[in-house]
Amino acid sequence: MTINNFFVPESAMAIVAHPDDIEFGCSGTMARWAKTGTRIAYVVCTNGEVGIAEPDMTKEKAAEIRKTEQREAARIAGVDEVIFLGEPDGLLQPTLELRKKLVREIRRFRPEVVITTDPTRMFVRDTYINHPDHRAAGTAALDAVFPAAGQPNLFQELEEEGLKAYKPCKIYVTSTDGANLFVNIEETIDTKIAALRAHKSQMKDWDPEEPVKEWAAERAKGKEMGYAEAFRVITLVREEECLENKRAK
Ligand SMILES: [Zn+2]
Repeated sequence: MTINNFFVPESAMAIVAHPDDIEFGCSGTMARWAKTGTRIAYVVCTNGEVGIAEPDMTKEKAAEIRKTEQREAARIAGVDEVIFLGEPDGLLQPTLELRKKLVREIRRFRPEVVITTDPTRMFVRDTYINHPDHRAAGTAALDAVFPAAGQPNLFQELEEEGLKAYKPCKIYVTSTDGANLFVNIEETIDTKIAALRAHKSQMKDWDPEEPVKEWAAERAKGKEMGYAEAFRVITLVREEECLENKRAK
């Protein structure tokens, strides 16, 4: 479905490494989709347990704090379902085991669109090295989508759990330098900022409002919109075929 040039999927699953990756990358779009009734699930590969460096902080405590913050951020964006896979934060690897976990989630939820982070991005502007976990999550997600999720002869054992092969129609790659789609997030930029603020342990004294508006305005430049999120969209199944598959469900 396309509303005023804005594509709205029936369902979407965002797969990332850490609590807060979705908020930085694509929560403006998630919030817009959620408002129009898209069924959305967030899959967070780690619990972000190494992300709070404070005296007396244990990894267990940190994991609980970050999971609570992520659930709150999802709620703000209108997303009810958040799945944590409990992989090791800071040491995430695109293993076959992780691929299988992701295939399980994709076959269960059957999202029309899968969103993930760009695994080929090594540098962010000229001031950051992209976190290796972000690259690992992107690789694992793309490898789960194609060909594994849609190939009945791969991870056949999942069929015994009643999880039939399923091919998502589109991939939205976020946090990328190779964008081919800019989504207008004027009406949800404040939701995006509020969702980011829910990650209190990460924001501390840093207020996301100004930088997030600046980045979103930069992406929107020359595109007749005030604020944008950027994606590289890969279409795996043509829209008509995708509709037919949905009707056949
Ligand atoms: Zn991250």
